[in-house]
Amino acid sequence: TVALGDVFASLASDFTTIAAQKGLKFKVRPTKAHVRTDPLLLRRILQNLISNAVRYTRSGGVILGARTRRDGVVDIQVSDTGIGIPEAEHQSVFEEFRRGEGIGRAEPTGLGLGLAIVRRMSAALGHEIGFASKVDKGTTFRLTLPLVEIDPETLARPERPRLATMGLNETRV
Ligand code: ATP
Ligand code: MG
Repeated sequence: TVALGDVFASLASDFTTIAAQKGLKFKVRPTKAHVRTDPLLLRRILQNLISNAVRYTRSGGVILGARTRRDGVVDIQVSDTGIGIPEAEHQSVFEEFRRGEGIGRAEPTGLGLGLAIVRRMSAALGHEIGFASKVDKGTTFRLTLPLVEIDPETLARPERPRLATMGLNETRV
């Protein structure tokens, strides 16, 4: 189980300065959701999506947020106010070494591997990924993963170390 808020917080510290250096806002919406996933791979996926969002946005910013759906899943969304992806490229952006036609001069570096890796990591985790985009308006990538229902009581009352009940003190470092 992964507390999504913790993942979001670490991404905020990774990207706030990077975005600010380009004059962009990076906004992270608070979330209390817990999800069933691998925390490291999830971070890698979101790092790729957010770095793309920052890279392909000239003004405005990027928003990271999560929405809990009624069917027991969470949609994580990375939205930007960037250059967008032309419809003709929608089918191919997840392919290896595929870069947008229109981005060459503005963003000369990049191999076109980020989204190919993102797709593989999402598939390995069993998470669905998709996006919607409009040229000159922006892009939203969405990753859908299973929600873990956590009893709020359990959260509020952190588990007492077992040792204490045996009369032993626990050493914490
Ligand atoms: P790399 O990630 O290997 O450094 P890259 O960013 O070009 O290079 P991908 O992350 O796979 O490669 O993205 C593929 C292409 O999809 C990009 O070249 C760009 O044209 C388009 N793209 C991806 N994300 C966005 C976005 N948020 N806004 C606009 N275009 C995007
Ligand atoms: Mg990329």
